[in-house]
Amino acid sequence: MKKLILASAALAFWAGAARAEIKVVTASSDLRYICERVGGAEVKVESLSSGDQDLHMVEPRPSMVFKLKKADMVVRVGLDLDMWMDSLINAAKNGRLFYGQPGYVDASAGVPLLEKPEGKVDASMGDIHIYGNPHYWLDPANSKIMAGNILAGLKRAAPEKAAVFDANYGAFVRELDVKLAGWEARMAKYKGLKVITYHSSWPYFARRFGLDVAGHVEPKPGIPPSASHLDGLMKKMKAENIKVILTESYYPRKGPDFLAGKTGAAVVTAAVSAGGAKDVKTYFDVFDRVIEGLEKAAGK
Ligand SMILES: [Zn+2]
Repeated sequence: MKKLILASAALAFWAGAARAEIKVVTASSDLRYICERVGGAEVKVESLSSGDQDLHMVEPRPSMVFKLKKADMVVRVGLDLDMWMDSLINAAKNGRLFYGQPGYVDASAGVPLLEKPEGKVDASMGDIHIYGNPHYWLDPANSKIMAGNILAGLKRAAPEKAAVFDANYGAFVRELDVKLAGWEARMAKYKGLKVITYHSSWPYFARRFGLDVAGHVEPKPGIPPSASHLDGLMKKMKAENIKVILTESYYPRKGPDFLAGKTGAAVVTAAVSAGGAKDVKTYFDVFDRVIEGLEKAAGK
């Protein structure tokens, strides 16, 4: 009996090992979500960051190199948001994942960029967002392009599963289209609504849903607010009757709370990625929750 159990355990182990799962490592939890949707049962996906992390500030760790060593495919946000992955990919020495190789996927490829710098980049623009604004996933429509890039990568990794990936991609896009129509309908009444955001994470979201981002708590991307910057912002909010401050969940509340206290504005704290809060489990939840927050702050 014991022998039989051992034999069947060995068989189960062998079957598990023989199952050709595509191992994918993503930079963000949103990319993990989209990759799991497109890859379905054929993929095992790990994200190097969690949904409540500022993607500009992820600290490379040896455990991440270990994950990349074993991966078949890597999916990056791209631009300058996950530059911290460069050193990790180099350290992993996994030829499949080098730039231009079949296992390298930049999810931003083909996304029309906002805030793309014209001409020379100089230090007055700050140290980040140097290739354009990298927070493009906050326009849900861009997830079709992201999913399309992932789909192409998965087909390179396992061409024999192409039909499965195509079907999964189709289902994802159909669900997205239904949700997007719902979000657009709910946001229609806020066209032109002026908001202050902490970081410049929201231009894609704002363009999609017609919000007017009138200022940022940060004077430049990545630069914490000074007292004089907050004072100027407070005056602007009073003069223009701006009543909503949208802040990403990982930033300090001090600046937004100060502004809210002086102007009577409401602060909406938003998780910007899947897993960023208890009630934000998926990429789609990001939009459900932030729109709920805006409805509460701005009035239905
Ligand atoms: Zn940023």
